[in-house]
Formats: sequence, C-alpha cells, structure tokens
Amino acid sequence: MTRSTHPALSVCVYCGAREGAKPSYMAAATDLGQLIADEGWQLVYGAGDVGLMGAVARAAQAARGDTFGVIPVHLLDMEVGKRDLTSFIVTETMHERKKVMFMNAHAIVVLPGGAGSLDEFFEVLTWKQIGLHDKPIFLLSIDDYWAPLEGLIDHVIAEGFAAADLKTSFQTISSIGELKAALRALRA
Ligand code: AMP
Repeated sequence: MTRSTHPALSVCVYCGAREGAKPSYMAAATDLGQLIADEGWQLVYGAGDVGLMGAVARAAQAARGDTFGVIPVHLLDMEVGKRDLTSFIVTETMHERKKVMFMNAHAIVVLPGGAGSLDEFFEVLTWKQIGLHDKPIFLLSIDDYWAPLEGLIDHVIAEGFAAADLKTSFQTISSIGELKAALRALRA
C-alpha cells in the first residue's frame, strides 16, 4: 500500500485508560487501531499505553500505521506515555492536549471509556452545538455501552434543555464494520 505524507483522514480516538469489564471493549480497540492503519489513515489519541488507549495504538503500530499522540506532562507516568509513536507530543496542560488532538483530527471516534472520555465527548459535542466546528463525531457503542448516555441525551432534549439537533450532532455506531463504511464515506 502506498501512503502519502499527509494522511487522507486523521481519526481522533477518545477511549478508556482502563480495559473495561468485557473483552469486547479491548477487541474493538484493537480492531479500530488496525482499521485506521489499514486504511492509510492517521490515529490521533492521548498517547497513553494503558487500557483501550494502548490497545488502539499498539494495533495501529502493528499494522504500520501513522500514530499521533498527545499527552500532558503530568500524566507521562500515570498513563505510560507511548514514546515510540510516529509523533509524540507532550503538552503542559490537559486543555492543550485536547486542543492539539482536536486540531489534528478530521473526525472523532469515541470508544467505551470513563469520565475522561465523557469529558472529551461532551467538549466536542458542545463545541459543535455552538457552531465552533462541524467535524463528524461517532459514538462507537460496543455491546450497547453508550446506550445510557444516549438515554440521558434524549432526556435532556425531552425536558427542554437542548434542541433536538443535539441528537443528530453525533452518530451512534455499533460495529467496526459500520464505522469503516461511515469513515470511508467522509472521503468519498
Ligand atoms: P477515561 O475515559 O476516564 O479512562 O480517560 C480517558 C482519557 O481521558 C485519559 O487519557 C485521561 O487522561 C483523559 N482525560 C480525563 N479527564 C480529562 C480532561 N478533563 N481533559 C482531557 N483529558 C482528560
């Protein structure tokens, strides 16, 4: 496969720094990393070597993919900064990390994760809501992991605290195959 120096698509992945309770979460992280590399896309992520984060990156590297990681200096030890990425960027703050990740992404994919992933998801969602960007956001709901979050967003809309288009500002996807088609369509 030939690859240009500028990736056709930069995919920013938000996901857990833990492995989660079901093996399917780590499996999906591995499949996603491999998909990104196989398609000649660039992985943008939080540069850790723990949990789902590490699994996505290791799979992308194993498939000779382009990996771009961004980590704040105070998490270098805690999240095991993965220094062998194609690009490894250390920021001073969490806010800088999120900004650099976002600026270098064409699309956002959210795998299962915890409070950190929720924070990252809601930041890009709310930025989209107020018109700061129009990047596609995909919620990868492995084994329906994100169903309660979708229910919460429905509730927020039903109770009049958000417009109905909050729900259409992101797309819920349940498998890597479906995500592959959706990401390919962005460059069609
Ligand atoms: P978690 O989903 O809680 O496992 O966290 C996933 C990633 O999100 C980890 O790399 C965390 O360091 C990161 N994270 C947690 N909180 C924040 C935050 N406020 N801003 C940016 N990243 C965060």
